[in-house]
Amino acid sequence: MLRKLFAVVAAAGVLAAACAAPAAPSVGGVLRVVATHSILGDLVKNVGGDKIALVVLVGAGGDAHTFEPTPQDVAQIAAAGLLFENGLQFEGWLDAAYAASGSAALRVPVSAGIEPLMAAEEHEAGADASHATEAAGADQHHGEPDPHIWQSVSNWIMAAKNVRSALATADPANAEVFSANAEAYIAELQKLDVEIFAQANALPAERRVLFTSHDALGYFAARYGFKVAGAALASFTTEASDPSAAQLAELVQAIKAAGVPAVFTENMHSQQVMDQIAREAGISFARELYTDALGEPGSAGETYLKMMRSNSTVIAAALGR
Ligand SMILES: [Zn+2]
Repeated sequence: MLRKLFAVVAAAGVLAAACAAPAAPSVGGVLRVVATHSILGDLVKNVGGDKIALVVLVGAGGDAHTFEPTPQDVAQIAAAGLLFENGLQFEGWLDAAYAASGSAALRVPVSAGIEPLMAAEEHEAGADASHATEAAGADQHHGEPDPHIWQSVSNWIMAAKNVRSALATADPANAEVFSANAEAYIAELQKLDVEIFAQANALPAERRVLFTSHDALGYFAARYGFKVAGAALASFTTEASDPSAAQLAELVQAIKAAGVPAVFTENMHSQQVMDQIAREAGISFARELYTDALGEPGSAGETYLKMMRSNSTVIAAALGR
């Protein structure tokens, strides 16, 4: 009886403590940080090191365009001191989740200071054959911004600086650590950037043409000298439905007319449509690229540095002679 009463009192005590305690921005003196998706989480981990407690919402292989946060995700946002997001409308679900959480976390869009590529025009969901022949750099003055900033290493260096500044402001006692971590990581990024340029420059100019599941490689193309011939979904997001049979036929014609050497699949998207397009166009179907998410631990895309090296190598192999 006494033991039972004790259990009830203890449970009530735990409950009271849980209700009374405000959402702590730190755990054991370590800053609580949330990053919205796996690629960004990898960056934040490299700069924050062991001085932050990091939670990543959309994990390896996950699609941040179509993500639906769980109550646990909302609770993580509520408990955070800092919330790193991509911005540029990448995380369409975040505003609602943040509002629902009642979080006081400072939101840090790492795309700040990066000049966004804009869609040439508003395009409807689904395939659009005319879009398939648009050059990446043509007339990009209006429409929606391209959120896939990490596909240019130069952008990601800017993002690393944004992460460093935000962490140093939130936790000035560890500012020097964040600064040293960022400096070491930016040196790695600079090395990576040079490697991708070397692989791209070794390809014949007329074969530097990219065609993917969705429109994710605009920044890669702009930085490393490729042309984006189009995408099966002709969209910056993956929410569009797969192309119809008639749209597929138009895409195949456009691919043939533009002389696209290969189509690339993406790690967070179905390969079926791309396989069909490649077969009907009589061109090669390249191994998958890591576009919007890291690969699982142990894969060739388990970190940002590895995924970009893997992508560059897959592209060079598919487009080289
Ligand atoms: Zn995307």
